[in-house]
Amino acid sequence: MITVKNPIVEMNGDEMTRVIWDMVKRKLILPFLDVDLLAYDLHVMVRDDTEDQVTVDAARAIARHGVGVKCATITPNAARVEEYGLKKQWRSPNATIRAILDGTVFRTPIMVANVRPMVRSWTKPIAIARHAYGDIYKSVEIQVPGPGKAELVYTPAGGGAPVTHRVHDFDGPGVLMAMHNLDRSIRSFAQACIAYAIDRRVDLWFAAKDTISQTYHARFRDLFHEEVAAHQDALDAAGVGYFYTLIDDVAARIMRHEGGILWACTNYDGDVMSDMLAAGFGSLGLMTSVLVSPSGAYEYEAAHGTVQRHYYRYLKGEQTSTNSTATIFAWSGALGRRGELDGTPDVVAFARALEGAVIETIEGGTMTGDLARIADPAPVEVAHTEAFIDAVAARLRDAVGA
Ligand code: NAP
Ligand code: MG
Repeated sequence: MITVKNPIVEMNGDEMTRVIWDMVKRKLILPFLDVDLLAYDLHVMVRDDTEDQVTVDAARAIARHGVGVKCATITPNAARVEEYGLKKQWRSPNATIRAILDGTVFRTPIMVANVRPMVRSWTKPIAIARHAYGDIYKSVEIQVPGPGKAELVYTPAGGGAPVTHRVHDFDGPGVLMAMHNLDRSIRSFAQACIAYAIDRRVDLWFAAKDTISQTYHARFRDLFHEEVAAHQDALDAAGVGYFYTLIDDVAARIMRHEGGILWACTNYDGDVMSDMLAAGFGSLGLMTSVLVSPSGAYEYEAAHGTVQRHYYRYLKGEQTSTNSTATIFAWSGALGRRGELDGTPDVVAFARALEGAVIETIEGGTMTGDLARIADPAPVEVAHTEAFIDAVAARLRDAVGA
């Protein structure tokens, strides 16, 4: 047994990923580690029963202890309110946790030799960071019914002359939108990206459309440049380069690039490009996600959801072949970080051994259906959900001599 010095905040979740969660803990974590798991059950019914207080408590616990690992959770919509008889459409747990930790989300694909990315040049992972504040996600919109004038007005709080811009003189129906962002949020995003790039020793790319948006997008560019300049010594010491270009230029370059970079995206670009990258690297089941707060707290999870369709098949007693790779990597990510923070190399080594066991299992030809469809060479064994985890456990026992 390896002892983990300080606690890890553990957040259980919903549906198929909850089934996987219990198997992973039972077969890959608890037999090997003496670890204090501070458990918060974010099952949608527990969130409903506690008026979502459990999510807030979990987020605060991550802030206190520095490391958390989270199972995928249902974000209730109207159908879920009906399905579970919820009191209300609770907010996305990830949004709640992100708001409390004020963090930035980084997504990184897990690469295996027999699942090649759609883009031939991608030989190393491309990590992506999405700025998670403002822009169209906090915009106000008007459906313009007919002729009229649209203006953008800023009124200074302390008095002074308002600034007014004519947006358009409508001669008929149309649409109108106003959006905003904040210097402090853009700066904190840039700082998080710089810290992540230094931690992982990868170059940092950032792009906007400052040729067209010479105030709004230019502000992002300028604040990024200022933050990079302020951290230039640390970037140089880590051998991390910074590259700024136009978003369309990045979109073209990324298709010819080998990877091994962090791509920082504005909110909308990150929404779109993260899904493009996940598909391009092979499967959502191979995409990991980590939320990093400015205070240095880390929360790890799989990027995918609760895999609802598989869960309904599981409930009917049918065999499922759901990929647990990203969930296992959430655990290994949290354990590795815990070990680094605690100065316990045996815990870090266990985390790397766990990741190695997963990759060797897949590269050895045992994989779940999502990968089997795209693997080259074709798999030796298409494993059911539990059989895959058992195969990983067998390799892990060999690796750590248990
Ligand atoms: P999803 O759970 O990511 O699944 C979408 C589809 O992707 C699945 O039906 C499956 O395709 C495939 N897939 C995803 N993960 C897989 C895995 N590990 N192994 C094999 N196949 C995998 O997204 P969703 O169905 O849109 O959302 C379901 C629930 O998850 C929703 O309630 C949503 O709110 C929630 N959600 C939570 C998070 C989070 O907690 N971070 C993120 C996203 C969504 P096939 O069915 O074709 O096999
Ligand atoms: Mg998206």
